[in-house]
Amino acid sequence: MRFSTTIAGSLPKPDWLADPETLWPSWHLGGDALHGAQADATRIALFEQQRARIDVVTDGEQSRRHFVHGFACALDGVDATKVERRGIRADRYEADCPTIVGPVRRAAAIHAGEIRFARSATSQRLKVTLPGPMTIVDTLVDHHYGSRAKAALAFAHALRAEIEELVAIGVDVVQIDEPAFNVYFDEVDAWGIDALDTVVDGVGCETVVHVCYGYGVPANVAWKASLGGAWDQYARLFPMLARSGVHTVSMELAGSRVPPPVLDLLGEKNVAIGVIDVATNDIETAEDVCATIELARRYLPDERIHCSTNCGMAPMPREVAYAKLRALGAGAALARERA
Ligand code: ZN
Repeated sequence: MRFSTTIAGSLPKPDWLADPETLWPSWHLGGDALHGAQADATRIALFEQQRARIDVVTDGEQSRRHFVHGFACALDGVDATKVERRGIRADRYEADCPTIVGPVRRAAAIHAGEIRFARSATSQRLKVTLPGPMTIVDTLVDHHYGSRAKAALAFAHALRAEIEELVAIGVDVVQIDEPAFNVYFDEVDAWGIDALDTVVDGVGCETVVHVCYGYGVPANVAWKASLGGAWDQYARLFPMLARSGVHTVSMELAGSRVPPPVLDLLGEKNVAIGVIDVATNDIETAEDVCATIELARRYLPDERIHCSTNCGMAPMPREVAYAKLRALGAGAALARERA
């Protein structure tokens, strides 16, 4: 189908589950009650996406406290209790970063339980999102490897094992979130693409890499304001992504200062264009979404255009996020009618 729809990954958590509108929320329940509440929140996330005519759905990341920590802190070799506050994404913001204390190993399945539940709860195409190796390394403190490239490769192997298990459960699409790719271009070239390919090559389902300008939190909004009138990050990154084995690139477009001609730089990749801005609570109209799709059509053939959100919606008010989902579905339908 033309202009198929998906979301970057996360949706807001209900306030009976976790602190609303925060990036590292605390859970409001524990033990079995927490798992039951996460399952209920997943049902709501799936329902709201279906209602909004989203074609490829996610579990809304309702069972993860944060998109990086959920995976990384479950691995052997990462100590979640040993935390240091430091600048991440080239000091764009400070975060409490867990520590790599030994060889990284995936001793057991990490997201299989919640993804098995999501698989049982929907017959739609299901996407799972996982943090990429570079973004994981950039969100931890390393006291073991002494090399970001070596650490990233260890996480890449752990991700690969996790993905193979999720594909066996019935996941249709795997998306690797690599916001750090938009910051460290020399490292992307030197080892980032190789690490990505170690994760995705030949895993037996559609693969996506998501590279964005971040959540709509104040530190990111301030960073974006400092980047000038035309953002040149994608122009540097996309030729490198074009040589990777990943099938689809998920990128930010709506309401941004991304120069649309960068869409020409992705070789033959499919492109999941962001048609929903997550840095504003204003709800797009179907016409707004349709206009962003029309913009992409100047550079890409219809069969390579997918529609998504610019980034995750975890920190947004719930009703705003759901209204934006409906705008996404309605705008893609409108574009299909007109194409
Ligand atoms: Zn993002």
